[in-house]
Amino acid sequence: MTDHPGAGSPWSRFPEELTGLDGELLTGERIPRWAAEDFGHTVHAPPLAVLSPRSVRDVREVVAAAARRGIPVAARGGGHSVHGQAQAPGGIVIDMTPLGRVVRMSDTEVTVEGGALWRDVVAATLPHGRTPPVLTDYLGTSVGGTLSVGGIGGMSHRHGVQTDCVLSLDVVTGAGEEVRCSPDRNRDLFDAVRAGLSQCALVVRATLRLERAPARVRRYVLPYDGLAEYLADQHRLAHEGRFGYLEGQPTPQPDGTWHHLMEAVAHQPCDRAAWPPDDRDLLGDLAFRRGAEEIEELDYADFLDRMTPGEALLRETGEWFHPHPWLNLFVPGAAAHSVVSTTLAGLTRHELGNSGLVLLYPVPTARIRTPLLRLPDDDTMYLFALLRTAPGDDPAARDAMTAANREIYDRARAAGAVAYPVNTLRMSPEDWRAHFGPVWDRLARARRRYDPAGVLTPGQGLAY
Ligand SMILES: Cc1cc2nc3c(=O)[nH]c(=O)nc-3n(C[C@H](O)[C@H](O)[C@H](O)COP(=O)(O)OP(=O)(O)OC[C@H]3O[C@@H](n4cnc5c(N)ncnc54)[C@H](O)[C@@H]3O)c2cc1C
Repeated sequence: MTDHPGAGSPWSRFPEELTGLDGELLTGERIPRWAAEDFGHTVHAPPLAVLSPRSVRDVREVVAAAARRGIPVAARGGGHSVHGQAQAPGGIVIDMTPLGRVVRMSDTEVTVEGGALWRDVVAATLPHGRTPPVLTDYLGTSVGGTLSVGGIGGMSHRHGVQTDCVLSLDVVTGAGEEVRCSPDRNRDLFDAVRAGLSQCALVVRATLRLERAPARVRRYVLPYDGLAEYLADQHRLAHEGRFGYLEGQPTPQPDGTWHHLMEAVAHQPCDRAAWPPDDRDLLGDLAFRRGAEEIEELDYADFLDRMTPGEALLRETGEWFHPHPWLNLFVPGAAAHSVVSTTLAGLTRHELGNSGLVLLYPVPTARIRTPLLRLPDDDTMYLFALLRTAPGDDPAARDAMTAANREIYDRARAAGAVAYPVNTLRMSPEDWRAHFGPVWDRLARARRRYDPAGVLTPGQGLAY
């Protein structure tokens, strides 16, 4: 790779003009390998430079200079994209993690830099008995990275997604300007950034709502033999809000059938002494297989961090570094049984991968107030996620999983499902237009206004 592809190219003299940076612009041999990598290990698009910023000014200057020359730019937070969404082929990757500080905190809100990992956010808030209302299952994702897509979790049935819990954002637009936006200020930008796939601006600071954190949780894992009973109980619990957290996993059985494990978690009420809760009150009317339930009590912090031991194990076995051709769908409640049962009937353990898993849990759609997060037309949607792991040495298996994702997406879409866009899914510009549907014009307008040179986040594959 050369630093300077040619005197006439947009790249010509670019690095020399950015000599006043607080951080560093890495080019040539100094470009780290991770800049053309992500958790998906499917797309490898080398950039021409990586910015390791020391200040928001660095981000502003590099984006502005790139915009003047039409050079693509992508922010990279935790690097957990699964299809090159944080890569910038022939452009600049901005490593946001050096801008990862917790800036300030009160009882009701915390301001963090865009590259902060959620793990760092909760490490700062929990000692004060405060928590963001919604957290992803895995805390190694970055704040900017999940706000780019939505950020869904087991608390979403009560609080919506993470982009619903943002009070204000400081962003660097595609023109390199730093702008503050919130529901009362530059509202169009606020709405274009939240779940806007980083098409208009990069998040450099986010002020997030906090609420009182539970001290303890009581976690119930409830096995269901039948999908219909599982969905019916989940639907009821999601609307009723009996538990603080609600998720679940279909699990393949040796005979090729699927059972379903509901995961329901009671949060220790902070304002009531009665603890533990009466299990009969919480579980009495549910249709799970009696006697096979598992119940445990945990500190809230340990519960949030529950993926860490599994991650350590997968790093040890190497599977953490294998390809992850993932598919996440939002399926309308009315079609959940048919979409899920058809999909699972055609899915073997082999096609999910050794450490792969399936998630299935409900969210009342009215809880979500992020305009660009596309939802099915139903009062309830289910996150239906096929979190596949391909063998490390079998690109054909990885490609077959990716192709299968497309087939499942097309079938589910015909039944009213939409993509939760954190997928290994080849989306054409037309697919994206159809995905955004009635809000496409809003996104395209914001893109023209805030990223007129069209440089931000090419890895998403949108075209305007
Ligand atoms: C193990 C695991 C568990 C997960 N669990 C959940 C879950 O429970 N719920 C859920 O909703 N998702 C989950 N995800 C998906 C994950 O939240 C998304 O892929 C998210 O976008 C990853 O953010 P990141 O910073 O780690 O990734 P990156 O790949 O670094 O970034 C993701 C996207 O955000 C953009 N971006 C990064 N930083 C910024 C910034 N500061 N400003 C603007 N754009 C930025 C990137 O350009 C890219 O397009 C999980 C992923 C993994 C690998």
